[in-house]
Amino acid sequence: MNARAHANNRDHRASSPSTILVTGGAGFIGSHACVELLDHGYELIVVDNYSNSSPQVFARVQRIAGRFVGAVYELDIRDRRALSAVFDRHSVDAVVHFAALKAVGESTRMPVEYYDVNVGGTTSLLRAMHEHGVHRLVFSSSCSLYGDAGGGRLSEASPARPTNPYAASKWTCEQILADVCRRIPDFTALSLRYFNPVGAHPSGLLGEDPSGTPDNLMPYLAQVAVGRRARLPVFGDDYATPDGTPVRDYLHVMDTVEAHRVALDHFTDGPGMHVYNLGAGRGWSVLDVVAAFREACGKPIPYDIEPRRPGDVTELVADAAAVARAWGWRPTRDLAAMCQDAWRFQQLNPSGYAGPAGSKSAKE
Ligand code: NAD
Repeated sequence: MNARAHANNRDHRASSPSTILVTGGAGFIGSHACVELLDHGYELIVVDNYSNSSPQVFARVQRIAGRFVGAVYELDIRDRRALSAVFDRHSVDAVVHFAALKAVGESTRMPVEYYDVNVGGTTSLLRAMHEHGVHRLVFSSSCSLYGDAGGGRLSEASPARPTNPYAASKWTCEQILADVCRRIPDFTALSLRYFNPVGAHPSGLLGEDPSGTPDNLMPYLAQVAVGRRARLPVFGDDYATPDGTPVRDYLHVMDTVEAHRVALDHFTDGPGMHVYNLGAGRGWSVLDVVAAFREACGKPIPYDIEPRRPGDVTELVADAAAVARAWGWRPTRDLAAMCQDAWRFQQLNPSGYAGPAGSKSAKE
């Protein structure tokens, strides 16, 4: 087996109802999900190749949750042998699949890599799951698959019109999952279409720490505010929106991962493919977010209007009613909390996870 494993059996607070394999568990959303699931008594197995993350995150997850992730394997999910060996070694009940490449702009420059990791990685995972009789999956999908819908709230029934390889890769994965559910009668796939998860754990210990130049607005803003980058590029101010900058629906990462924990209780609702939007149901422009972040950090944020970025669309706002009806789940944190938490993480970790594990002033 060419995976590297670190097994820890110490300090488990609660008896575990079940064992969850988390792909991409070292990443932004995955690491917050690890805390949420450990807090609720799950046993976790994480696989990640650290292409956009660092294993240092697990010390912080353990510090917050007071428990270890049961086992962490450094592997590429496209490596079917290594992935299969993880399923051989652990009795996995369900998979939460975060691992993917996620930068829209980069996907237009590296389409083959995006399809290979996002689609090829997902088929590799599905094979390993099926070979080991694991038929329960929560999949990280994206609102980007709706494409340029021209405004209005988007429901799960809105047509998919991906405008870039990243979005197309997510839409392709959803179609594959639907086919798998048709073919395997007891397979349950819960596909969650996120609308821009942002923010950070309120402790300031976990947050978004992208490798290289951030592709997303909130981590870029935070790096400008902390002095790591000089100015924020705003890609386009000639969109058909009130201030000309694109409008998005933002969701606190803690709300996002709570929805995943709730999802795990709903495999019993019945097999098949279930698709839900995860969003706040309201939109903010890029300049709205800049203003909210300025309020949170108390500093001006210098920015430059630049040309539109290929693949970007005017507006993406969720109709989030379906998941509220089905699971009773709704986000509870507002944009101010998203900015305050992202700023706390950036202040306490100006160089991201490369620095010391949070300052003493971090709240826990
Ligand atoms: P992230 O880049 O922080 O986390 C992804 C993790 O997957 C990283 O730790 C990375 O190292 C790992 N990974 C990537 N390729 C891998 C591979 N081949 N094998 C093993 N591990 C691999 O991203 P995130 O923001 O936490 O996003 C998680 C999921 O949510 C992704 O599927 C993403 O497409 C989806 N999503 C994110 C957003 C967002 O705004 N953050 C929005 C919609 C959907």
